[in-house]
Amino acid sequence: MSNPKAIIAQIYNQLYQHYGPRGWWPADSQLEVILGAILTQAVAWKNVEKAIANLKEQRVLDYHALLELPQEKLADLIKPALYNRQKAKKIKAVLEFIEVEYKGSLEHMFQTPLEELRSKLLGIWGIGPETADSILLYAGNKAIFVVDTYTIRIFSRVGLVEGNVNYTQMQDFIQAHIVKQVEIYNEFHALLVALGAECCRKKRPQCFKCPLKNCCQEYTWAGIGKQEVE
Ligand code: SF4
Repeated sequence: MSNPKAIIAQIYNQLYQHYGPRGWWPADSQLEVILGAILTQAVAWKNVEKAIANLKEQRVLDYHALLELPQEKLADLIKPALYNRQKAKKIKAVLEFIEVEYKGSLEHMFQTPLEELRSKLLGIWGIGPETADSILLYAGNKAIFVVDTYTIRIFSRVGLVEGNVNYTQMQDFIQAHIVKQVEIYNEFHALLVALGAECCRKKRPQCFKCPLKNCCQEYTWAGIGKQEVE
C-alpha cells in the first residue's frame, strides 16, 4: 500500500461528497447518546429509536428518573431494542458507575482524561470497546475513533488492512493516518456506517452505486456491482 494517509483522505472526501454531513449522533443530550450506544448493540438503529421514544413518552429519559426506575420496568420500555433484559442491566450498571464515581455528574465524568475514563468504562459489565468509544466520542467529545464491523469490512475490502484485523489494530491504524480531531472522527465513523448499511454489505455488496468503487480493490469481485455495471 503506497500511501495510506492519502487513500484514507480520499475515502473520507469521497464519502463526504456523496453523503454529506451525517449529523451523528442523533440525540438531545449526552445521556441519550450513552443510552443509544448501549441500545444499538447488535440491532439496527430503527430499533433504538423506538426504545428511546418509549423512554421519552414515559418521561424517564432523565438521569435520576432512570436511576430510580426498576430494572424490570426499564427492560419493558426498551423491548424494541431487543436483548432488553441484558441492555437494561448494562444501562443500570453505567448509571451506578456514574453515581458512585462522579456523584451523578456527566460533566465531571467527561472531565476525566480520555485513557483513564476509557479504562473505567471498559470495566463496567457489558461495555466493550465500541460502546465505550461511542460514549467517549459522541457524548464526551473526546478524540477517539469508533470502530465497528462496517469499518473493518470497508477498510479490508478497499485493501488497507487484513480482514482479520482486530478492534485495537483497526483503531490504531486509522488514528495513525487521519487528523486527530473530534469533528473528523465523528463524521468519518458516521460516513462509514452509511456506506456499510447502503452499499458495502456483508453479502452481495452493492458496488455499482458505491462512492468508493474507484479506489476499492475488491470492487472487481463484488458480483452484483460488476454485473450491473457491465
Ligand atoms: S466497491 Fe463494493 S466492496 Fe468496495 S467498498 Fe464499495 S461496496 Fe464495498
